[in-house]
Amino acid sequence: MKHFIQGFFWLGLYLVVSLLPLAVVFIGPRPPGRDFITELSAALGFVGLAMIGLQFFLTARFRLIEAPYGLDMILRFHREISMVACLIILAHPLLILWRDQSLHILYLPDQPLRVWFAVISLLALAALIVSSIWRRKLRLSYETWRVIHGSLAICALGFALGHVIGVGHYIADLWQQVLWIAMAAASITVLLYIRVFKPLIQKRRPYRIADIHQEGGNAWTLRCVPDGHSGIEFDAGQFAWLTLWNSPFTIEEHPFSLASSALEEEYVEFTIKELGDFTRELDKVEPGTTAYIDGPYGAFSFERYPAAGYVFIAGGIGITPIMSMLRTLADYGDTRPLLLIFAAHRFENLTFYDEIEELKERLEYLQTVHILNDPPEDWSGETGFVDAQMLNRHLPEYPRRHQYFLCGPFPMLISVEQALLQVDVPGTHIHAELFNLV
Ligand SMILES: Cc1cc2nc3c(=O)[nH]c(=O)nc-3n(C[C@H](O)[C@H](O)[C@H](O)COP(=O)(O)OP(=O)(O)OC[C@H]3O[C@@H](n4cnc5c(N)ncnc54)[C@H](O)[C@@H]3O)c2cc1C
Repeated sequence: MKHFIQGFFWLGLYLVVSLLPLAVVFIGPRPPGRDFITELSAALGFVGLAMIGLQFFLTARFRLIEAPYGLDMILRFHREISMVACLIILAHPLLILWRDQSLHILYLPDQPLRVWFAVISLLALAALIVSSIWRRKLRLSYETWRVIHGSLAICALGFALGHVIGVGHYIADLWQQVLWIAMAAASITVLLYIRVFKPLIQKRRPYRIADIHQEGGNAWTLRCVPDGHSGIEFDAGQFAWLTLWNSPFTIEEHPFSLASSALEEEYVEFTIKELGDFTRELDKVEPGTTAYIDGPYGAFSFERYPAAGYVFIAGGIGITPIMSMLRTLADYGDTRPLLLIFAAHRFENLTFYDEIEELKERLEYLQTVHILNDPPEDWSGETGFVDAQMLNRHLPEYPRRHQYFLCGPFPMLISVEQALLQVDVPGTHIHAELFNLV
């Protein structure tokens, strides 16, 4: 309920702030001799501008804002609302062209600086969208894309504000000036918060790698011990950004689920599969290496959804947040029925296989089902994919009384969700974590 109210509050605030510029257009004194189309065009431009400013807040990882939704949901909203903002902004010059019934405005050499500003802002927005949608096709590494993305966003906002000042309408009254300055100052403050204050706080709260060891499934577990502070409190299943080898001011940080028990006070652990540039270097980490952790984030946790029992469905390295939940439930001495369905390509890919079997001694009602695509010859367990028939064989007698947590590759999440719906699990009981935010 608390999260529901918080979520409602932030959504309401988003609507108020993005529509606030309309007050400037429709309440304040209007420039003389302007028709409705011109006013509408200005109003749309202002709303679009406010929405672009708000994008900085959405990506600033404010825990208070992300708590009710989860960061993945906020980032999805950020992506989708940016399309809406762009369409609204585009309507601003299109209405002017339509009003004038002429394309003269497009001949830039004749235009004043304020029009150039508007064009540069629009081009920056277009480049921002193209580079985000086609990042992989453009072969941009995540880090390069992040630098480009941030720079284009600042450019789009800065030139749009330049355009507003250049046009000079709706900035005459003191209250209008206060409003625009407050909006610009808030965006700059958020940038400073992300790039300066937050890294400074992290710098004062370092971690030391106390242990690193290899796990099944080509993964490494890193144990991070807080160095001179109390560490972080998290809900089992949440994730954090990890920075290794670098200062917290660098752009290179990676999200990983906190895999250790949430009740463990001495350390946190990440279990990371070798995949790309960063994760393939983990064998070089030495005990004693300094690490920085920004978190926790996310809403993927059994703590949020009280239930008679839980069903966990993991694919490959998607076991990590689920492992944290199982370890935490074991530390609580939980006695509710738990079912883990763990899918992997081969037996060797079942990270934590032995530890999960051992956990059954502490979790009396934990049942495990392993399912392999490419099983060894003597395999007697499930084979193939998780589908409705397979779920019917293993799900508890009253599936609607349980909550379901899914983590794995995207195609698996989609098909397992469909299968759960087919066996009458309510959609509201299904919670998924995807290891991909961008
Ligand atoms: C919420 C969440 C939890 C995760 N938990 C785990 C976990 O417990 N164990 C695990 O092995 N993996 C986890 N991942 C995946 C992990 O973040 C990526 O595998 C890792 O960042 C890849 O980095 P790389 O440079 O080695 O690979 P690359 O080949 O450079 O990147 C592969 C892909 O990973 C994504 N990625 C890369 N860098 C970042 C970044 N800094 N921020 C966001 N996405 C990035 C991009 O989509 C990229 O295309 C998690 C991801 C998310 C979003």
